[in-house]
Formats: sequence, structure tokens, C-alpha cells
Amino acid sequence: MLSARNLIPFRRRRFCDKKKVGREMNTDIRQRYPYLYETHLHTSEASACARSTGKEMARACKEYGYTGIFVTDHNWGGNTAIDRGLPWEEWVEAFGQGYEHAKTEGDRIGLDVFFGYEAGYCGTEFLIYGIDTAWMKAHPQLQEAGVEEQYRLVHGAGGLVVHAHPYREADYIREVRLYPEWVDGVEGVNAAHSNSHSKGHAHPEYDARAIAYACANKLPMSAGSDIHNTQLFGGGVAFRRRLASAEDYIKAILTGEDYVLTDGEKWYDRLGNII
Ligand SMILES: [Zn+2]
Ligand SMILES: [Zn+2]
Repeated sequence: MLSARNLIPFRRRRFCDKKKVGREMNTDIRQRYPYLYETHLHTSEASACARSTGKEMARACKEYGYTGIFVTDHNWGGNTAIDRGLPWEEWVEAFGQGYEHAKTEGDRIGLDVFFGYEAGYCGTEFLIYGIDTAWMKAHPQLQEAGVEEQYRLVHGAGGLVVHAHPYREADYIREVRLYPEWVDGVEGVNAAHSNSHSKGHAHPEYDARAIAYACANKLPMSAGSDIHNTQLFGGGVAFRRRLASAEDYIKAILTGEDYVLTDGEKWYDRLGNII
């Protein structure tokens, strides 16, 4: 007859193999939330620090299994690849090329591609969603807008302003600056911080701080990879249904629809708890 003591090793083997449990759980989560979106992605057409084109990024993301991507290149306040001396409309046109190339390829291969951008303010960065290049061209005041005015303009147009990696420390970020009243949400999980394959900004504690900040201010959270080439991390936001548009994404985030966050390895509920 087996004594309780004899049972312990068996139980440990069966239930405490964390690696196995993690893999099984991930498969289960992917089945429950099959529609994965990359929300933070750069292209070499418009971001000086990116290495792959919009077309290449779209292909890699489709292969990885993403349902869709948001192209979020660095704007005039960040590491843009577009000549800042260009007239506004020409600047916006050139800036949109990374997105356009990703979109053309996405339409061909079955990947949903949405426009966005990453706005820089002396290193403090915001992810902007739900507007397009036509709207940008019609709003040249964006160029001079401070963080508060940016929020008024973008939020007023039905767009979404998300504070990107709020606690990242880097050469290009002078200091951590927080604007809870001038954002709609917070990038709680940035795969560049926490994915084990990241070669830059790899500090998981930046994510932990961002999650705590979002929770303390009751701001919804997103996740993205901040990817600059086709060596994807797999980060993003996963939903139970396919999103119809960028506006649909915004609605889902703001209304607290059932979604999960990932850095490509770990999974979190939308409140930032590891699941
Ligand atoms: Zn960059
Ligand atoms: Zn970025």
C-alpha cells in the first residue's frame, strides 16, 4: 500500500514541472484568445532604428501567427527616418510608407494592418492609434503640440494615446515622466523589456513598474514588442474575436473587453496578473 510520503515525489513530478505546466497553459490561452495583435512595431521606411521594411515585417508577423499588427513608427519627436525639413504634408506622406507597404502585403497574405505612430517628447513616448495620415495632414498643429494638447487632439478625434514603456531607462530618455491624466492607457508589457530574446532594454522590472502604475491609476493596459526587425518576440494583445478595425481595438481596450497580454513568453490578464 502507498503511504502519503510515497505519493509526494509522484505528485511533484506530475504537477510541479513548471515548464510543462507553462507550455500546456500557453496552448490553452492561445486557444481561448486566438486573435493576437502586435501593437508596437517599427519599419525601416520611417524609423531610423528599424532594420526591416513594412513588407518584411508583415510577412514575418503573418508567419508567426499574428492576426494583425499596428505599425507605430517614430514620429518627428523621435527617431524618424524622414527628413524633418520636408513640408508637413510631404513629411506625413513619406512617414506613412512603412505602414502602406505593410498594408499592401497584409492585404495580399491575410494579415490585418492598422496605422499608428509613436510620438516622442524628449524620450518620453506615446503610442497613438485610431487616426490616419489624412487626419494628420489636416492637423499640422500636431507638430507643436505638447503632451496635453496631443491628448486633446488625438482623443478628441476618437484616437487612443498609450504611454509606451513608461519606466524604461535609456540614453535617449532623460527621465521617467508620467502623465496619467493625458493618456488613455499604458503599455504594461513591452517585450523588449521582458522577452528572453531581447538584446536591448532587457529589464523586466520596467514592465512590473508599468503594470503597477497602470493599476494605481486605473488605466487600461496594452502589450507590444517594440520590434524593429523580423526577429519577432511575439508580444501583443490577444482577443477572443477578430477585430474589425483600429476603432474596434480602441473600443475593446477602453471598455475592458476580455483580452490578455503577452511578451511572447509569459501571459497576463488585462490587469497585469500573470496567468
Ligand atoms: Zn526605435
Ligand atoms: Zn517603439
